[in-house]
Amino acid sequence: MPGHYLIRTFGCQMNEHDSQRLASQLEADGYEWTDDVEQADVVVLNTCCIRENADNRLYGHLGHLKAVKARRPEMQIAVAGCLAQKDRELVRERAPQVDVVLGTHNVGRAVELLHHAASAGPITEIWDQARVDDEDFEFPSALPVRSDLSHSAWVTIQIGCDNRCAFCIVPAVRGREISRPFADILEDIKSLAAAGTTEVTLLGQNVNSYGRDLDSRQFRPLFARLLRAVGAIDGVRRVRFTSPHPKDLRADTIEAMASTPAVCNHLHLPLQAGSDRTLKAMHRGYTAERYLATLAAARAAIGDLAVTTDLIVGFPGETDDDFERTLEVVAEAEYDSAYTFVFSPRPGTEAATMADQFVPADTIAERFERLRVVVERSALAKHRARVGRVEEALVEGPSKKDPAVTTARTSQNKLVHFAGRVPTGAYATVRVTDAAPHHLRGELVEVTAAPHHRTRIPVVAV
Ligand code: SF4
Repeated sequence: MPGHYLIRTFGCQMNEHDSQRLASQLEADGYEWTDDVEQADVVVLNTCCIRENADNRLYGHLGHLKAVKARRPEMQIAVAGCLAQKDRELVRERAPQVDVVLGTHNVGRAVELLHHAASAGPITEIWDQARVDDEDFEFPSALPVRSDLSHSAWVTIQIGCDNRCAFCIVPAVRGREISRPFADILEDIKSLAAAGTTEVTLLGQNVNSYGRDLDSRQFRPLFARLLRAVGAIDGVRRVRFTSPHPKDLRADTIEAMASTPAVCNHLHLPLQAGSDRTLKAMHRGYTAERYLATLAAARAAIGDLAVTTDLIVGFPGETDDDFERTLEVVAEAEYDSAYTFVFSPRPGTEAATMADQFVPADTIAERFERLRVVVERSALAKHRARVGRVEEALVEGPSKKDPAVTTARTSQNKLVHFAGRVPTGAYATVRVTDAAPHHLRGELVEVTAAPHHRTRIPVVAV
């Protein structure tokens, strides 16, 4: 009996995307969104097992919902996402109040499973792999059934991952790599652009290997071709993508980035570690030398390229020498910013079994701090070099700290704050006046394009 739904999303962009899909299905079934758990008839917890303590957070939420369900037994609780995929029956064993447990490959069946549970009782349905040939199978679409859209959209072009990075649970919970058909992606983006979306981010676990599993009878639409095709769509002013894998960053992708004006001059290229020994233990498939050569090729071809990365400190077995090498490579790479993570074992991964090689916490903390200093040094230098320039930026909204200040994002993916109010989704030119390690400050020159999008389905991220 449709009423209100509430979705809580844990984790990454892929999960937020799945939550948008769940919201679309529930709305198509007649449910309306609420952010009040007391009003909700269906609560979906879309889980993630990548972050630390993911299970504690899930069971904490489920404990709270148990009390609500005791008062309102007709309220349905569903647990979806990576943690559900990994833990399966365990979720309902630990939390019998859950009505539906579904995994990452059958998100499209959420409503059907809720209906089933309402009449026949709790159900767990986990598929081991996406069933591309199944008539119910759908790639995550960026298009909600409701006509509300944002100025900026994430478009899934690929699900799963064929790599086996030793620290990562994604292959186990998201399955093998499957590329979405080329024409479907372009159709989605054309519809988004027609409704006012001007920035699209192509999303995949290993985005630049897109297309290698697709039928090649006519042509194999590899990632470079996709970048060019998306960049040519009327109304698309900005194309971003995340995350590429360094081992798969081919010359044709670099060339497509360089020659497609809509593709932003930002490359997120996860290094993870600078020691070849550690990279090998991680199964990353490249050496530091090869990584730096790829980076140099990208910088040579793409003008004014900003480069960001991911780094893990304290992977099992990381010695002082290994870490020194990471510092050297990071200094040489001169990043614009880096997401630096302290290694923490994720159950189900190879790295979690290497307990005899875990690095002591105080050693990791000391290394983390040294790495932060090196990253911030290059970030600040890069940002200072932009002072005095006029950059076009896409407005993200009022600053969280001061509503009289507007926050926007440059093509290089840098946040720039400036005084005054400009509508969200507008493009404006901004003169950069000041730099900090994590953002720029500037002054508004002029608004170059007004927004004409509509609002998106709200999904609560936690
Ligand atoms: S490339 Fe490695 S880190 Fe990225 S999703 Fe695949 S296994 Fe995980």
